[in-house]
Amino acid sequence: MYARLKHIANYFLDCLQLIFPAQCLACGSPLRYSERILCTSCLIDLPRVYESTAEHGALDHLFAGQIPYERASALMYYTKKNKYASLLHALKYKGNKDVGIFLGELCAQHLHEQNCIESIDCIVPVPLHSKRRRTRGYNQSEVVAQGISHITKIPVCASAVVRRVNTETQTKKNKDERKQNVANIFSVAQANLLEHKHILLLDDVITTGATTISCAETILRQVPSARISIVGVALAHH
Ligand SMILES: [Zn+2]
Repeated sequence: MYARLKHIANYFLDCLQLIFPAQCLACGSPLRYSERILCTSCLIDLPRVYESTAEHGALDHLFAGQIPYERASALMYYTKKNKYASLLHALKYKGNKDVGIFLGELCAQHLHEQNCIESIDCIVPVPLHSKRRRTRGYNQSEVVAQGISHITKIPVCASAVVRRVNTETQTKKNKDERKQNVANIFSVAQANLLEHKHILLLDDVITTGATTISCAETILRQVPSARISIVGVALAHH
């Protein structure tokens, strides 16, 4: 009986897919059977962040001299007017976790191409405050981390670091205000999980880097034996 119902449900889902095909999140064109989230041409055109050389990472201007870290990279550039902004919007505000997994898988591929993933022991998504996590239902960076983990099999360590302070939005603040706003908002809850580990610290959108730096500082202060690399899903243009 159940199998029969499932069969009928699948039949209707197939019909729906024919009438309302899933659309590319960037350009809105109907997706082909083999495509997911983005159509092939939008995937090819993704504004990727490339490392200039092995010595100079694309995000070094944000992190060099601020904290000790191994590598810092990001998958793509982000501007509000860019058609790809809808990816992050869907992930953050529309509850679309599939987008997060998809972006995570792209990140994994990107990190692999940049030789940034080989020595990583665990992925730590920058935590949300528990209150905000409850409202949203999930931490968007954690979903992306799971996408990276699917490909790389590197474990996600989402409970080791917590956010103690629920900061207001950073968008209208300048660089110094942002830094002040996020100072000491994180805390390591399970140091034993991070000791002697090379951590990939993952944030969704990196703008000034202030939040990421604050989180990395806290980890290194509380777990001095840890090493940190950084990855952002997106690097915001100013
Ligand atoms: Zn498209």
